[in-house]
Amino acid sequence: MGVINKIKKKFSNGISVRKLSLILSLITSLIFILTYRATVEISYQYNKHIEIIKTYFVCERAAQEIMDVSDILTENSRLYVLDGKKEYLDEYFEESNIKRNYEKALLEIKANGANISTGEIQNAVQASSQLRLREYYAMRLAADARNMDLKSYPSEITGAEISAEDAARSDDEKLTIAKNMLYDGDYVAQKNSLRSNVNQYLKTIVEKATEKNEDESKKLEEMIHLQSGFLAMLLIAIVIVFSSLIFLFIRPLDRFIKAVSNGQAVNAEGAMELRNLAETYNTMHASSDNNMKLNKELKKSNITDILTGVYNRKGFDEIKQQMKDTDKKIAFLLIDIDKFKTINDLYGHPVGDHALRIVAGTLKKFFRSNDFIFRAGGDEFAVFMTDVTEEHKDIITRKIDSINAELSCYQMFDNMLSISAGVAFSGSGYDKEVYNAADSALYESKKNGRKRCSIYKETL
Ligand code: GH3
Ligand code: MG
Repeated sequence: MGVINKIKKKFSNGISVRKLSLILSLITSLIFILTYRATVEISYQYNKHIEIIKTYFVCERAAQEIMDVSDILTENSRLYVLDGKKEYLDEYFEESNIKRNYEKALLEIKANGANISTGEIQNAVQASSQLRLREYYAMRLAADARNMDLKSYPSEITGAEISAEDAARSDDEKLTIAKNMLYDGDYVAQKNSLRSNVNQYLKTIVEKATEKNEDESKKLEEMIHLQSGFLAMLLIAIVIVFSSLIFLFIRPLDRFIKAVSNGQAVNAEGAMELRNLAETYNTMHASSDNNMKLNKELKKSNITDILTGVYNRKGFDEIKQQMKDTDKKIAFLLIDIDKFKTINDLYGHPVGDHALRIVAGTLKKFFRSNDFIFRAGGDEFAVFMTDVTEEHKDIITRKIDSINAELSCYQMFDNMLSISAGVAFSGSGYDKEVYNAADSALYESKKNGRKRCSIYKETL
């Protein structure tokens, strides 16, 4: 309970969207990095898996090739011995000396990590060599029996030394011995030894591949689980981001906008920043309400300047008094028409009056409805703005520039109609000092060439 209360208290002013977005960005980035890391690991494990399978297939094919080559040699040597046609012998040596599939298969096995000088492969190689020696001898014996010309025969045949005993035999006997050598129990036993060793080798690589695969599969599975976990976390983080956006920002902002457009105070809810904004707005709203009421009252009590429609001197005095009694943050502006005497002189007094009306109308247009605008006397105007601080000085300067831009559009004054303004800020209502500060700022504007706005340097 204590912890919940502590949390409630901590967030009683709302959650700061700035902090929250920072935290959520960090969390989502971290989860993203972890997910990416897991994905890289998965692809690494997957490649390893594929590599093991590839190695297995290459070795299996090579082992099969060793047996196939041995069968081709057996078949051709037997056919040669039985038939005596040289083409069988040629085919035998084409396979053994030119195509060299047997050697290529051994190299492939070696390249894929197997030690070919020990174990089953070595035994198979030995059996194969034994078989070949037997086949050479048998083929040589058969060639001799048929009195073949050995000139075009390969060195393996010409170099096979026939024992004196066999050399002394008749041709038929030689042929019989040659056939027996390729069909008898010894030959078959050696052939079987070759086959069983290759099969044993195949069994071993299957076992090794399965074992390795099991290990890698386990790792792969672990990584996939981890990745699924991270993805779920990422989804949760995204849901949190969107929910907080909706509940802390979009919904409260929607209500905020509705309240503002209905001219009502707004509820402080949602994100901390929005609550602060709501509070500031509510303060301004209350103050603006007061000013509106005051404006209405002033209009009733015959304090309007007949010529221009803004408040007259009497109104100015009344509001001055009220502003003296408050501790509001205010901006006070003194505004004077530039070279007004010249306008009167050039165009006459009635046109001068018209210029006064234009200036008053333009001031009304550019200042807020809750600001107080006065004709303080002659061609001088004054403005009270409430809840305004020095932070707003650029806005006020731009306002005066805009007013001057609009006044210069009146062709009848040949671009001569303009105003100068002096602004003073006060953090606690109005007094004589504020007036003097605005007056000296106005003097600055006049001195620096008119048609401009000057701000009194210090807030009073
Ligand atoms: P500056 O730029 O220094 O202000 O020069 P200015 O000629 O405007 O000088 P100043 O503000 O002192 O002149 C004010 C003139 O305003 C003097 C007066 O003839 C004229 N004036 C005062 N009241 C009225 C009015 O009700 N109607 C007209 N048409 N002129 C007025
Ligand atoms: Mg003037």
